[in-house]
Amino acid sequence: MATKVAVVTGSNKGIGFAIVRGLCKRFDGVVYLTSRDTGRGKQAVADLEKEGLHPKYHQLDITNKQSVETFRDYIKSKYDGIDILVNNAAIAFKNAAPEPVSVQAEQTLFVNYFSLLSTCDILFPILKNGARVVNVSSSMGHLSKIPSEALRNRLKDEKLTIPELSGLMQQYVDAAKQGTHAAEWGNSSYAVSKVGVTALSNIQQRLLNDRDIKVNSVHPGYVDTDMSSHTGPLTIDEGASAPLFLALDAPDSVKGQYVWFNSKIVDW
Ligand code: NDP
Repeated sequence: MATKVAVVTGSNKGIGFAIVRGLCKRFDGVVYLTSRDTGRGKQAVADLEKEGLHPKYHQLDITNKQSVETFRDYIKSKYDGIDILVNNAAIAFKNAAPEPVSVQAEQTLFVNYFSLLSTCDILFPILKNGARVVNVSSSMGHLSKIPSEALRNRLKDEKLTIPELSGLMQQYVDAAKQGTHAAEWGNSSYAVSKVGVTALSNIQQRLLNDRDIKVNSVHPGYVDTDMSSHTGPLTIDEGASAPLFLALDAPDSVKGQYVWFNSKIVDW
């Protein structure tokens, strides 16, 4: 039987690292710990090896199409394709960050939305039938974070296409550059990027329905990681719990959903 393959982006630390740990314990196949920085990634693999776990490693920078294509070609040459893809990698500026909103908007949307999308564009063609995709969103990715009702209606429109969604995300970046974003979009680039991730997951599910592939987005909870400046109450393993539920345990009926850290489906 073909070897099954699981891939977690941005998994050298934090929640992604714990997702790899959980997959190594429970997934019947090989698990790829990936990172943009090879040194940090290999150190993370060594840490899991000390626990008796054996993830594989490959470099993967989601913002660099060549890096993602190299990874895709490597997986294609070695295996039949991917069974589990967890899009976990993301960035967040700290509240006290000195960068102006124009810069924060461009960089946050570039990594969290546009690079997640381009990674999917490159890796989705090698998803196997029956595959599961978990897009790590946030409670900040709840539609209620967007003040404009007109925008909320567009974002949840069942006919919204990916190019149209990307157009809306770009409109936010452009508005932030003009300083005119707040009334319609609110004041958090991170929230807009994660609303984009959840909206994208919903569209991806619609497009993949006929291929028996499940795409869900998840709020992992408020977790003790570098991103939260270690203020979150949950451990990284607790934060990995809902992503692991979607990757391994959720019934097939759970698709195109927004799931909370207690693994319950939340109305978006
Ligand atoms: P961390 O900052 O601890 O980890 C983020 C990971 O993403 C790191 O491994 C980082 O690598 C990686 N990364 C960043 N940019 C890239 C890139 N271009 N290519 C590949 N990897 C990259 O964050 P968390 O573990 O807290 O967050 C994991 C996910 O959970 C994110 O999607 C986040 O938005 C989400 N989340 C987190 C919450 C929390 O409370 N912590 C709450 C809600 C959602 P490097 O070490 O090189 O920087």
